[in-house]
Amino acid sequence: MSAKILVVEDEPAIAESVAYALRRDGFAVTIAQTLAEAETRREDADLVILDLMLPDGSGFEWISALRSERRDQPIIVLSSRDGEADRVAALETGADDYVTKPFSPREIVARVRAVLRRTVASVAPSASAGAPTVELDEKARRAWVGETALELTRVEFDLLATLLGGPERVHTRADLIDRVWGDGFAITDRTIDSHVKALRRKLAEAGADPSTIETVRGVGYRLGPGSNGSGA
Ligand code: CA
Repeated sequence: MSAKILVVEDEPAIAESVAYALRRDGFAVTIAQTLAEAETRREDADLVILDLMLPDGSGFEWISALRSERRDQPIIVLSSRDGEADRVAALETGADDYVTKPFSPREIVARVRAVLRRTVASVAPSASAGAPTVELDEKARRAWVGETALELTRVEFDLLATLLGGPERVHTRADLIDRVWGDGFAITDRTIDSHVKALRRKLAEAGADPSTIETVRGVGYRLGPGSNGSGA
């Protein structure tokens, strides 16, 4: 079954070129030119490609509204702005990926595939590791240490989900970038390390075993020896 993609873009030439590339690759595509139209068509979309500046409002606000209703369709933002601040803001608001105009239709198709792969791979209802148990619910995007709920950012949640999803193995930084940010993102090792550091601090504050996330020097990260996670 082919995934259904909703393209929200008011510039017809861009919308058509994106739709053409996706259809050629086997996706079913619907186009909306306004947020109002998008609102009526989003229900059965598997993924949304969203322009940030639309005639009836800002894509940023729509993402916030969707996320506050716990709509978890993946969203890839299209924008003519290329500032790091906008990219970070889009991701913090809840977008899954960000593509700056001008882009090649092939790039969009690759991003769509990467985001779908990541979200489809993360449908496991829960996973656990460490003592007390670190648990997460992928669908609800919530995580706990024992009974304590964690307040995680999107990136921290995805890092934890990735580590719990492959408890036996070492995750290289390149692998984590691919899983958490998507192919082709220019994320430095130091950026990953600082997200992992923040995640470790939150785990420790909630009472998790400090060795829940182990550093593998020069390579990346894996779940620690205290882990009892199955990733199931
Ligand atoms: Ca626009």
